[in-house]
Amino acid sequence: MISPFALVDKLAAENALSRGEMTLLLESLTPELAERLFERAREARHAVYGKDVFMRGLIEFTNYCRNDCLYCGIRKSNPDADRYRLSLEEILSCCDQGHELGFRTFVLQGGEDPHYTDERMVGIVRAIRSAHPDCAITLSLGERSVESYRRLYDAGAERYLLRHETRNEAHYASLHPESMSLRNRLECLRNLREIGYQVGCGFMVGSPDQTVECLVDDLMFIKEFKPHMVGIGPFIPHKDTPFADRPAGSLELTVFLLGILRLLDPRLLLPATTALGTISPTGRETGVLAGANVIMPNLSPVGVRNKYLLYDNKICTGDEAAECRFCIQRRMFSIGYDIAVTRGDYAGLTGDERQAV
Ligand code: SAH
Repeated sequence: MISPFALVDKLAAENALSRGEMTLLLESLTPELAERLFERAREARHAVYGKDVFMRGLIEFTNYCRNDCLYCGIRKSNPDADRYRLSLEEILSCCDQGHELGFRTFVLQGGEDPHYTDERMVGIVRAIRSAHPDCAITLSLGERSVESYRRLYDAGAERYLLRHETRNEAHYASLHPESMSLRNRLECLRNLREIGYQVGCGFMVGSPDQTVECLVDDLMFIKEFKPHMVGIGPFIPHKDTPFADRPAGSLELTVFLLGILRLLDPRLLLPATTALGTISPTGRETGVLAGANVIMPNLSPVGVRNKYLLYDNKICTGDEAAECRFCIQRRMFSIGYDIAVTRGDYAGLTGDERQAV
């Protein structure tokens, strides 16, 4: 039988493994194996992106949500969530501040809030596009109609993050209410990609009832779907959800998966997430050393930061945008990486594709 170390080398050489091989790799996780994987992942990442880390300014603009995902702190049936919405002016002011600080991508993320109709969202996207034509606009608004996605794209949004959450049907059903379906989630992802967005999918690591088989399903799906970005972070319980007593996902497994993802597609945009920084004080640095190349400091106004709580103990909820930005820079310098003041597009895009977005 092929040794797990040889599997890492095979993954690095071929950017693919069979289901059986992927299962074996995940089941063989040891610190030594992880170190081999991270070395290969760093080589792959340096060959494409060097030592640049791309920053994205995250603006959490609403925590109202019509959905009831069992893991999420802003689910609609949490009466203790202190709800807020940002106005167009507040969002623009976050972008202005972010631009000064060197951000060239803004990520608008929120719950699925019906207040933000297509008209309102198109207005927001257009206003950011005209105030900051040198910046990329990423949306993370959950599931919407194909018409809605198209209107937002035409207004100037060019990237969309929609984690698939899990590619395993039964697991999806155990994390979501009956009103939600994996089928629709995947349909949305396909629509987004067809419209022309750079698309990000992703999943939580260590979510309740997740098995190795679920993770293999996720990795095989990603290999086949070929997203431009993949957002993964540990599941962290939130006290007001049905999963309050479930254990959090681990740093070790999350960064191991980051290394695997880097080798599945060396050009991937792969964030070291806030959740990773929440389960370990140096989680994001460990993530970058495992192959991640994106970091998403918070640009939301300080007054609302402690309200966008998807999970407990979230970091940076009291910091100003500038503090977060320079803290991240220090952290990246400390491990020998640089912050790049660029849009940070997917390395595979041709000049024409970049023009089109
Ligand atoms: N409403 C948008 C944005 C969701 S929030 C959407 O549906 O896409 C962004 C991501 O946070 C989610 O996709 C989920 O994977 C993650 N998340 C939610 N609750 C979490 C928790 N308790 N622990 C860790 N990550 C969580």
